[in-house]
Amino acid sequence: MRDLHPCLVGRTFTDLSVYWAGTIYGLTPEALAMQLVGRRILDLSRRGKYIIMTLSEGQYLLLHLRMSGQLFLAKPAPERQRHVRLVFHFDDGSCLSFVDQRKFGRVYLTCDPAEIIGKLGPEPLGEDLTPEVFADAIRRRKGLIKPLLLNQFLIAGIGNIYADEALFAAGIHPCRRAHTLTPEEISRLYQAVREVLEQGIANHGTTLNKFSDAHGRPGSNQGSLAVFQRTDKACPRCGAPIERLVVGGRGTHYCARCQR
Ligand SMILES: [Zn+2]
Repeated sequence: MRDLHPCLVGRTFTDLSVYWAGTIYGLTPEALAMQLVGRRILDLSRRGKYIIMTLSEGQYLLLHLRMSGQLFLAKPAPERQRHVRLVFHFDDGSCLSFVDQRKFGRVYLTCDPAEIIGKLGPEPLGEDLTPEVFADAIRRRKGLIKPLLLNQFLIAGIGNIYADEALFAAGIHPCRRAHTLTPEEISRLYQAVREVLEQGIANHGTTLNKFSDAHGRPGSNQGSLAVFQRTDKACPRCGAPIERLVVGGRGTHYCARCQR
């Protein structure tokens, strides 16, 4: 969002190329093109994992990248890229490509964003998520702590990499029942969530296979990961081998000695 903002705010849509209609939620390619062309992007923001374009005439375009989605800015429009699903064309000759190998990414056009993002929990880096709100969200829950961190209705925006890293930083085993966490552990986890997300943003994202920013540059946070996808490598704190489990359907990495 930070990359896209300076390039997209103020632009007017001039055309839409659709290579896979399933990326568009609830509209035909023709209907979306008709709605977008001539509309201007007034603002760009983010809520949870959604990128939100505020458009002229009271519409909003929301984008969710899901597992493999990527957005690329280019000027002029590039040759057709591999796995490209949509290309938005703008009045200055630039374009925004939605590339998505696994096809789980979606764009939504709506006049009421609350229909899509209204039930999301607070932002982990926002002022709404105080230590008290965080503690309230998890302390009476009987579920495992890691799936709770990934539950977007509880806290919005934490993904698999950052959940594993936060639990390691806080010294908490991913399979702990949430209600067994002590106040000290909850407080450590609150700090850890903020720290790992802030570090990820500062490092421009985590590039383990393909992720890159809107200009095609990889992130550098992979060099700062303590446990994620480091199975059998040495724990940076105690040297024991990092272990892997599947928790709530997601690959989960942790140190059995440091995380209790
Ligand atoms: Zn360890």
